Amino acid sequence: MQICEIKKIIEHNSIHKTFFFDLEMKATAGQFVMIWIPGIDEIPMSLSYIGKETAITVEKVGEATEALHQMKEGDKVGIRGPYGKGFEIVGSKALFVAGGTGIAPLLPLIKKYEGEKHVVLGARTKELLLFIDELEEISSLHISTDDGSLGFKGFASDLAGEIMEKEEFDIVYTCGPEIMMKKVLDLCLEKSVQMQASLERYMKCGVGICDSCAIDGYHVCKDGPVFDSNILAKIKDFGKWKRNEAGRKVEI
Ligand SMILES: Cc1cc2nc3c(=O)[nH]c(=O)nc-3n(C[C@H](O)[C@H](O)[C@H](O)COP(=O)(O)OP(=O)(O)OC[C@H]3O[C@@H](n4cnc5c(N)ncnc54)[C@H](O)[C@@H]3O)c2cc1C
Repeated sequence: MQICEIKKIIEHNSIHKTFFFDLEMKATAGQFVMIWIPGIDEIPMSLSYIGKETAITVEKVGEATEALHQMKEGDKVGIRGPYGKGFEIVGSKALFVAGGTGIAPLLPLIKKYEGEKHVVLGARTKELLLFIDELEEISSLHISTDDGSLGFKGFASDLAGEIMEKEEFDIVYTCGPEIMMKKVLDLCLEKSVQMQASLERYMKCGVGICDSCAIDGYHVCKDGPVFDSNILAKIKDFGKWKRNEAGRKVEI
């Protein structure tokens, strides 16, 4: 584990902040790090910036993410990783479907992808849409909001479905609420398009030992977090069940 200083913080809205660290990390988009917040917990976070700038984009949901949001530039956290299997570059025309904070691991992939790129960026409201300016510069951006405050009114997966009716893609990459990703998987299976998704499961060790993130014989931390459609189509728990912090199976 490395102890790293928070170099810069960007406050996007009331629940999202991006934290930049004094750390240069070699990693693949979709890989994650374990962030140790002293005295609180250690939690998995995808890398939203990779290379000379290393950053994570954090949604405030509970104790550890709340504590991170309280931190200031100059404060220190522990970082270990990068871990897991990231996204693989496929083909020359891609559709990226991001729901809420799900844009975080997709951002470095979108930057790296050299072919034609269309991005569906969805959130509950327009205030929660992340990285619009950066994405507009590098991709053809399609926005959806659940409440219709900006762009298409409805879910990102519904907008993705409309776009896939009109255009053909070599690959679809997705990250966001699992119900959305399951809908994207079904669309891709129907149209025989390859797809990769980054999954979230409760994690303690991050390296395949504790079993917290086991899903139908796979460990999300080691075999994922990115899985392709061939595997996802066989995972019965995908879009249905996850384990909580006590290890108990709960409906998604
Ligand atoms: C590989 C991976 C990458 C991730 N990347 C990001 C990221 O880039 N940005 C981001 O904001 N979050 C990300 N997460 C989710 C993040 O790790 C959790 O939100 C965080 O651990 C919650 O900690 P907490 O103490 O604040 O909340 P808790 O009090 O622990 O939990 C609050 C709520 O979130 C749920 N939760 C907790 N941990 C997870 C988890 N790992 N997966 C799904 N639900 C969980 C709990 O069941 C509860 O409902 C990622 C998770 C994984 C597994």
